[in-house]
Amino acid sequence: MSMSELMSAAVWRNRIYSGGWKAGGAGTIQVTEKATGEAMGSIGCASATDVSAAAAIAADAQRVWAAMPGPQRGDILREVARLLQVYAKDITLQIVRETGAIRPKGQLEVKLTIREILEAAALASQPTGVIATSDVKGRQSMARRIPIGVVGVITPWNSPLLLAARAIAPALATGNAVLLKPDPQTPVCGGALYARLFEMAGLPQGLFHVLPGGAQTGDALVRDQRVNMISFTGSTRVGQQIGAVAGGLLKRASLELGGKNPYIVLDDVDVEAAASAGAWGSFMHQGQICMSTGRHLVQASIADAYVESLVRRAGALKVGDPFKGDFHLGPIINERQAANVDRIVAESTSKGAKILAGGSRDGLFFQPTVMVDVAPGMPAFDEEIFGPVAAVTVFKDDDEAVALANQNRFGLVAAVASSDSCRAQRIADRLHAGIVHINDQTIMHEVFGPMGGFGMSGNGHNYSTFTNADQFTEWQWVTRREELAAYPF
Ligand code: NAD
Repeated sequence: MSMSELMSAAVWRNRIYSGGWKAGGAGTIQVTEKATGEAMGSIGCASATDVSAAAAIAADAQRVWAAMPGPQRGDILREVARLLQVYAKDITLQIVRETGAIRPKGQLEVKLTIREILEAAALASQPTGVIATSDVKGRQSMARRIPIGVVGVITPWNSPLLLAARAIAPALATGNAVLLKPDPQTPVCGGALYARLFEMAGLPQGLFHVLPGGAQTGDALVRDQRVNMISFTGSTRVGQQIGAVAGGLLKRASLELGGKNPYIVLDDVDVEAAASAGAWGSFMHQGQICMSTGRHLVQASIADAYVESLVRRAGALKVGDPFKGDFHLGPIINERQAANVDRIVAESTSKGAKILAGGSRDGLFFQPTVMVDVAPGMPAFDEEIFGPVAAVTVFKDDDEAVALANQNRFGLVAAVASSDSCRAQRIADRLHAGIVHINDQTIMHEVFGPMGGFGMSGNGHNYSTFTNADQFTEWQWVTRREELAAYPF
């Protein structure tokens, strides 16, 4: 099987997917290979008019889809999962080229995506409500879940296949229609690919639309009155804007945003194992994951040994074009993002932090960087970096570790490493984060665990087998009596 068999570039060239493939009203977007900047073709860019037309088609198609038996909706999703498996190798390469991920990251993304879709498919076979009790004889009372209607899904570029799947699949499984707006930097593996897979799997026309575009297209999606819910994954800045607009329209918005995730390393730990986990947490995918380890909080007595190990590991990592060879790190997504990493490093060093490894880049290829003496008030401590920088801060005792970890406006993931898991649990119990891992680093994705953050990291645990049914449906209370109720007047 090859990518061209699944989908040649001619399928999406200059097109959006909305009731079939067609030209976009806002021109085209160039699709590039991130490591080289080479053009891979142009895809259509959706205008506000396209968004509105798509929402109208989707609203009609959704009513028919919602009436289809759940297990049959699930079958279509299971077929998409099967096709993902069949074309896994080629889809992985598309992810590698379009996002700059190394091959193992692309492979993992496909694998996790398949799991997301299969679990969502199973949701369509679950009971859809409960029989409630009633104070009144003869009144039957039930609460049932009904689809929300049309769901707008807005995704980022860093794991475009997976982060789309975790919203599209449960939304469709529960009887909704979906309008997907992928990031303009990854419109094929984060968008067009799904259009083709759903087409091949036999999803009825009009239910699923791919509307590539930037902020304007996204904004049109959020504001369209026929779009009943927005499922957004991306930066805190944009999440705040979307939350404000959606709030004004009383529209449900699930917001999965950034993180500045602390990894607390206690003095009783195996230092080499802890440094290995820490290196993975900060350097995996060039540090461009919401769950990346943003702060290494290390107890004073082991700090030198931990940093020495981290520096050694950073120095051994190879950075290069992941499509051309086996590297540990690929490119940063774009020049603006790479320049922001430069700024964070430079401003933090001007405030007293020291670079012990890396710190520089060749174009988009940033060397794995270790910074020490990082303190609150420095951007390396306060801001999400989204680059391969391990920022190390030393603490004296457990209370200080907790205070430092919580000294942040985000609250996505926190992690604690210790050979005393009870001590680690006592610390974990005091951490303000939506996700806490003991004896692991901060990056972990499983559809089975409730994923989400506190504070500036988002508005709850939006995607998982725990929460998907609630997220993508509304409760409806239905009562029934055999005869019309009698009243005194
Ligand atoms: P971004 O917020 O810039 O863009 C995300 C999406 O929003 C893109 O599709 C973009 O086109 C769209 N968008 C931009 N402005 C918009 C607007 N005004 N209205 C509607 N849509 C708009 O984010 P990014 O830089 O592409 O992605 C990285 C960010 O995503 C990081 O902060 C990262 O932590 C976060 N992220 C969070 C999670 C999570 O699950 N919590 C997962 C991955 C990434």
